[in-house]
Amino acid sequence: MTEATRILLDESRIPHNWYNIVADLPVPPPPILHPATSRPVEPDDLMPLFPVELIDQEASAERFVLIPASVRDVYRLWRPTPLIRARRLERALGTPARIYYKYEGGSPSGSHKPNTAVPQAYYNARQGVGKLVTETGAGQWGSALAFACAQYGLECEVWMVRASYDGKPGRRSLMRAYGATVHPSPSPLTAYGAEALAHDPDSPGSLGIAISEAVETARAEPGTRYALGSLLNHVLLHQTVIGEEAIEQMAAFGEAPDMVVGCTGGGSNFAGLAFPFLREKLAGRMAPVIRAVEPAACPSLTRGVYAYDFGDAAGLTPLLKMHTLGHGFIPDPIHAGGLRYHGMSPLLSHLYELGMFEAVAMEQNDCFEAGSRFARSEGVVPAPEAAHALAEVVAEALRCRETGEEKVLLTAVCGHGHFDLDGYDRYLSGRLEDLSLPQDRIDTALAGLPSL
Ligand SMILES: *Cc1c(COP(=O)(O)O)cnc(C)c1O
Repeated sequence: MTEATRILLDESRIPHNWYNIVADLPVPPPPILHPATSRPVEPDDLMPLFPVELIDQEASAERFVLIPASVRDVYRLWRPTPLIRARRLERALGTPARIYYKYEGGSPSGSHKPNTAVPQAYYNARQGVGKLVTETGAGQWGSALAFACAQYGLECEVWMVRASYDGKPGRRSLMRAYGATVHPSPSPLTAYGAEALAHDPDSPGSLGIAISEAVETARAEPGTRYALGSLLNHVLLHQTVIGEEAIEQMAAFGEAPDMVVGCTGGGSNFAGLAFPFLREKLAGRMAPVIRAVEPAACPSLTRGVYAYDFGDAAGLTPLLKMHTLGHGFIPDPIHAGGLRYHGMSPLLSHLYELGMFEAVAMEQNDCFEAGSRFARSEGVVPAPEAAHALAEVVAEALRCRETGEEKVLLTAVCGHGHFDLDGYDRYLSGRLEDLSLPQDRIDTALAGLPSL
């Protein structure tokens, strides 16, 4: 163990490969199904949506996938990211645990999302695609993709969930600054958006609805493709740069984690941090407990079912076997907009079924409490999503205070909260509600699962 507080790596230490955990699984993950035939999708089925390299990566079982030189070159703008020991948080908590965090908030758009936005824009540009369309919840993915599109000269059009469009105008402006066009979702611009508005003119929107609008647009416009910021295998793959760097940095600290904790919306930052450590665990080189943290208002792992479901609200996407609350489930508008998604990554859901990690759900007041504690000790105001992981880290560190255990805890602060200060304001003035989720709302949405 060293006395260091931050381990910074040289640019040359940016990983050369992404890590594909599929190569190391005892059981291969179930296939994506075509909704019309219920048979596994063929690469051709996905060509209207994604470039060929991403379709290949989606189905790949190769252990390592080479990161293109051009992508590594853009990564140099902010990678490797620092790994920091949260000594001041440890002191504030009076815990014998040692707390480390990988800080992804220093990327151009302020989260881990550019790790995948950049390769997605790169592969599309190389294939001659002129425009990418997407959805965004809190605006983190939209701004990451807008930044990446600007790097490769692509147009970018974003459907932003209405609750965030109204609540986070700064994110909207950031996307425009990068040159993107932004619409609130549901919007009258697509058939599905118009239908959702007819059903509820005041709809707060959901990621599921916004995905439907973006997918509908990508299918209708030639030369346009769709980009997804989480959930799919290729997205999780790209995020493994987080964990690969963290392994080297933990070694430089002279530490191995006893526990790796991450927040899960669609699962990409958690997987990006955890998968390389899971590889080490499967190989017997370390033995960390791996724990996912999701919001109590949208608990796909802890209260959802493992079943084939659509990725979007309208049922336009292929069928994904995943932990889901039902594609019609509209989560309450909690401040961690990036965690408001009805499903969980199919690959992570598969690993969860295999017992390879644990999951817990957190109420948003506990998360903002941990986020504020972190801000006051470490100085970084974490995104409300990241605050979910921190809430579990704080809880574990306090358990260590009781037991005297010197556990090594590792998490990712996957984004800063500079555009989420309204949530902090509400928390600090006692106006933030914990939203209970009655079982009948889940049951109603689950009744709409597609039958195979
Ligand atoms: C998008 C986002 C999330 C949720 O997405 P995952 O794929 O689960 O990582 C979490 N935190 C931040 C900061 C985000 O931008």
